[in-house]
Amino acid sequence: MASIIAQELTGLRGVGPKLAARLQAYGIERVEDLLFHFPLRYQDRTRVTPIGGLVEGSEAVVEGEVRGADVTFGRRRSLLVVLQDGTGTLTLRFFHFSNAQKQSLRPGVRLRCFGQVRAGPRGAELVHPEYRAVGPAPAPVEDRLTPIYPTTEGLGQQQWRKLCSQAVALLERCPPADLLADIDDDGFTLADAIAYLHAPPAGAALDALQAGRHPAQLRLAREELLAHHLSLRHLRARERARRAPPMAADSAGLRTFIARLPFAPTGAQERVMAEIAADLAGEAPMLRLVQGDVGSGKTLVAAAAARQAIAAGYQAAIMAPTELLAEQHRVNFEGWFAGEPLTIAWLSGRVKGAARREALAAISDGSADLVIGTHALFQDAVAFARLGLLIVDEQHRFGVHQRLSLKDKAAHWHPHQLVMTATPIPRTLSMVAYADLDCSVIDELPPGRKPVNTVLVDSARRDTVIERVAGACAEGRQAYWVCTLVEESDVLQAQAAEATFEELAEGLPGLRVGLVHGKLPAAKKAEVMAAFKAGACDLLVATTVIEVGVDVPRASLMVIENPERLGLAQLHQLRGRVGRGSTESHCVLLYQSPLSANGRQRLQALRESNDGFFIARKDLELRGPGEVLGTRQTGLMDFRVARLPEHEDLLDAVQTQAETLSQRHPERVAPLIERWTGTRQVFAGV
Ligand code: ADP
Ligand code: MG
Repeated sequence: MASIIAQELTGLRGVGPKLAARLQAYGIERVEDLLFHFPLRYQDRTRVTPIGGLVEGSEAVVEGEVRGADVTFGRRRSLLVVLQDGTGTLTLRFFHFSNAQKQSLRPGVRLRCFGQVRAGPRGAELVHPEYRAVGPAPAPVEDRLTPIYPTTEGLGQQQWRKLCSQAVALLERCPPADLLADIDDDGFTLADAIAYLHAPPAGAALDALQAGRHPAQLRLAREELLAHHLSLRHLRARERARRAPPMAADSAGLRTFIARLPFAPTGAQERVMAEIAADLAGEAPMLRLVQGDVGSGKTLVAAAAARQAIAAGYQAAIMAPTELLAEQHRVNFEGWFAGEPLTIAWLSGRVKGAARREALAAISDGSADLVIGTHALFQDAVAFARLGLLIVDEQHRFGVHQRLSLKDKAAHWHPHQLVMTATPIPRTLSMVAYADLDCSVIDELPPGRKPVNTVLVDSARRDTVIERVAGACAEGRQAYWVCTLVEESDVLQAQAAEATFEELAEGLPGLRVGLVHGKLPAAKKAEVMAAFKAGACDLLVATTVIEVGVDVPRASLMVIENPERLGLAQLHQLRGRVGRGSTESHCVLLYQSPLSANGRQRLQALRESNDGFFIARKDLELRGPGEVLGTRQTGLMDFRVARLPEHEDLLDAVQTQAETLSQRHPERVAPLIERWTGTRQVFAGV
């Protein structure tokens, strides 16, 4: 009888059309949604704590007798009430109070208070506690922990408690199917766990609950992670069931291609190229993620894949997140493929007019073999004659949805898909975010790479850093100066970079200073980059447009302004632009003080390590999965109960359970996915 759970909200006491509409706007449409709307945290109002036993930082109920109430005129006018209970005294501090309130807090009055304990100038304090007067007889306390729900304007905690407790009462009368029965019998059933978390009994382990480690939470977290994992496997199975064009490996051609390169592939590149070649030869669409640290040489792997597709008579497309990176690919590919009889088309948002019409025609009539471009490739006007392979570079910048929407670009079959990311994804995360993809790792850097020596410098010492840049350039080295802004706006970024460019060009008259940012015309950008690459420019002032792909081995110093504004992965990417040549390289993180504790930890991680995997892991710990994957807005990683990386230890069990469930109870898979992910993600737009 899941019907009661699927019941309309207006069936609940106190829910009229107005409240129902408000809840709906918040994403709560049915009674079931209330059940899965879990408290963020709890208050323990189940016992009275003696004043002498109060712990700083904790929330507590206290009871005592007022000894005095005085208004003080320190930095802020405050009402200070002294409360005593035989074990000690406590100050209640109010900044907003009425005269009547002060009058009511006469000596001898007994008060029951609740609030967070903090250390004040005269010992323990509660600031603006909730309080009420009580008689001499012991007043009853709550028998359950008090849930604090996530909420939005206009919905109070009392309202949430009333709604959720009604939903829990319904749940107990007709519990929803336990889809993990005889799969996960470790303590709680689904219904018990839900009911428990909405109203944990007195004595429940508050610490475990706050940390997300209570058995009831773990039961639900396992189910939720399992649902996410299954949804991606489902997606994968569906993709793999489609037909893709098989492309026989062209080993002789590949050998010739490689022999013409200025370097030999690393062992890791060889291995990954072989994995891809085998996938492409198959009839099911390849779904492969290549992870490789910055500078590990993913482009070559992509080129080899594109070669195989083209040699077999198909078109290949490579898509990059920025114009600059796409251009870099174009330059690389044109160089590497110079000896091969193939035609490259170039497409980006900036390609307009006749050039655009020509490119589109070449793509749709099939005369273009390889198409390189930016997001413009998504546009509906782009029709491929025979797209066989789609390569998406820097995957984490695109969402799963974008990845899915691209595959429709081929007419009669599903193209093979290769996604490449320079942000190594911690294993934990890839199990829930990329379980639909096979994974190859380029775990080796080309020979001769040197770790970048990273230092943190307070922006108060900006002048010394400028001198240092001057010194390095005087010795014939090249440097980047990277300007960052929180705003996504190209215009503001460009303005900040222009201002810095002017300041540095003026302050360093002996240097040739260049400027590159997202607002420059493509030709101008290419010109500046070419000058820098050729050594005709000493110092390049740039926005984060140079984050990916830019490759100038002689640049050995990078200054990053306000690094505390960026994610670790992004900083690691940026830093990867240096350390590519034979001289020792340096990266100066010019931060704005004061740094938050979290900000300092993040920058320290960069100082400590040059290993992208280590850094990605730290990023996950410090910022959470939504930020790391860049999916915060898409809600992909919005879990209800599960938390990563805190619940990482559950993932091994999840993988086993996924196998067991799919084999023994395949009919439960769809309801499970539906329950936890709804229509929010996997099924949307597919
Ligand atoms: P990323 O993995 O960051 O995309 P790239 O493909 O841009 O790395 O490669 C970084 C640089 O290393 C490029 O200049 C590329 O030509 C060079 N490179 C790639 N593979 C090798 C190799 N096996 N030996 C030497 N240099 C290489
Ligand atoms: Mg790259």
